[in-house]
Amino acid sequence: MNAKNAFSISEERRRILLVEDDYVNQETLKATLGDVYEIVIAETGEEALETIQDQYETLSIILLDLNLPGIQGIDVLSRIKKDPQYSRLPVIVMTSDNEAEVECLKLGAIDFIPKPYPASKVILARILRTIELSEDRETIRLTERDQLTGLYNKEFFYHYAAQLDLYHKDTPTDAIVFDVNHFHTYNDRYGKASGDELLIKIANNAMSYLDEIGGIVCRSVADTFMMYCIHTDNYEELLARLSACLDEDSISGNRVRLRMGVYVNADKNVDIERRFDRAKMAADTARDHLNAPIGFFDHSMREAEILEEQLIDGFHTALREKQFVVYYQPKFDVKQDVPVLSSAEALVRWKHPTLGLVSPGVFIPLFEKNGLIQELDNYVWSQVASQIKDWKENLNITLPVSVNVSRINLYDPKLTDKLLNITEMNGLTTENLLLEITESAYTEKTDQIITTVKNLRKLGFYIEMDDFGCGYSSLSMLIDMPIDALKLDIQFIRSAFKEQKDTRLLETMIGLAKSFEVPTIAEGVETAEQYAELKAMGCNIIQGYYFSRPLPKEEFEKLIINELKKEEHVC
Ligand code: C2E
Ligand code: MG
Ligand code: MG
Repeated sequence: MNAKNAFSISEERRRILLVEDDYVNQETLKATLGDVYEIVIAETGEEALETIQDQYETLSIILLDLNLPGIQGIDVLSRIKKDPQYSRLPVIVMTSDNEAEVECLKLGAIDFIPKPYPASKVILARILRTIELSEDRETIRLTERDQLTGLYNKEFFYHYAAQLDLYHKDTPTDAIVFDVNHFHTYNDRYGKASGDELLIKIANNAMSYLDEIGGIVCRSVADTFMMYCIHTDNYEELLARLSACLDEDSISGNRVRLRMGVYVNADKNVDIERRFDRAKMAADTARDHLNAPIGFFDHSMREAEILEEQLIDGFHTALREKQFVVYYQPKFDVKQDVPVLSSAEALVRWKHPTLGLVSPGVFIPLFEKNGLIQELDNYVWSQVASQIKDWKENLNITLPVSVNVSRINLYDPKLTDKLLNITEMNGLTTENLLLEITESAYTEKTDQIITTVKNLRKLGFYIEMDDFGCGYSSLSMLIDMPIDALKLDIQFIRSAFKEQKDTRLLETMIGLAKSFEVPTIAEGVETAEQYAELKAMGCNIIQGYYFSRPLPKEEFEKLIINELKKEEHVC
């Protein structure tokens, strides 16, 4: 055998398991089939089951005599078909008892060969056809199924869900999305294999539920499942069924929990994918709600959806018509007694023709989801660069401005070229445009992001880690992290200065950043008290309403002029 043949499956002969106790019948079938197939013989039901257990992966078909010593053929058939691991194996039953035909077909036999045997060519033709059909079915199964759980994959799920609609136009149905709370933590703690087991259990729970009520289910991605089923009223019971037998988290001692979003009586005029977007939206409202793990799509979400559509539809017109306006919020260096204007942050707003001034909190997350953020950020960066140039020429000041770089941009291979282009076109150096990258971006595909950020720094861009303190990055990450400044998150400042003031953590963070020789920026500083305490703690730069709200460029220009005058005065 040459090396190629050693690994060639297509050139192997297919294997038939012949379960037959009668010697004459065995020999007859060997003579009929032996030239084309490899025959494995089992003479009893027990032997048949053992052979299947050991060799099922290499068997193509089972020819089963019903009349066996010990375990009867009909029991062998029923056991094979009940076991999900073996049920894909096609079984042809051989018997002289015509009455048994219906029962065997019901149990899952695919065909019949009567005894006494028909002509050899009839037997061969039947076996070949059955093997081909079952192999085709297996190929389809592999393409439409998720390898881990055996459930449909997302694409085929949508296809079959749409088919269900065709056959059940008037049956009320629910679109349901469910996932595991903090699945990534579970995976981190117990390893991928345990995580996989958990997902398989959930998939089996879902299948056994649907066996009873009707419907289909898929694993759409990672730990997220989608279910399209006949409308039910009892979602608590459904959630309990899906969560059955889930392990306890052996570290926290808590039961692993699912959360679920339901779009009840899903509107069949709405695109099928959209119906599940709605269920997902509902699931997001249940995140981390231990006591309310089920969210329902409701009127307010419908309104939010309409708003989202309006924003997405209006995006390109808005870009063309310059409806996106950049505001500037000053950052002050507070190292000396008198604070000095050191830079600004560019914050975009949308002057919408019908909705008025829309805050970035509304549209940025949306554009991050659908990728439009890249176009918007590019636009903002260009506007900002040309503004810096304008102030340079007309106010004789080079004021660095930081722009927000969304995490989506970090995956753009052209990011560095784009930024370089923008600075060069406006006659700026890379130090003039500061880049704010949110902390949570670093916790994703860390390696790729670190490489991108390192490249940007090599070119001279300053990187500020935005929203520090609210993401998942550990303090040890700071050691490898290529950054030039650390921007403490607004929430973090808020909680330190709330009624029961506790600034210990804040102090520790600033001290820590100092020990890594990274300057800290505090944002969201609103009061004189906050300002004074942060300054005393050694915070380097302060941004917030205490100094100024974000301002349109004309007003910000006035602020610059004022600051310049103050400096002259000091001199
Ligand atoms: P961020 O980058 O963390 O910006 C700081 C936010 O805090 C801004 O909200 C700012 O107006 C607000 N803020 C500043 N000082 C104070 C204060 O003293 N008190 C209070 N309560 N708030 C203060 P804004 O402008 O609504 O922006 C929200 C977020 O939207 C930004 O958070 C940033 O993540 C994002 N964003 C804004 N503009 C852009 C942009 O052009 N591109 C991208 N990708 N994201 C942007
Ligand atoms: Mg920012
Ligand atoms: Mg921030």
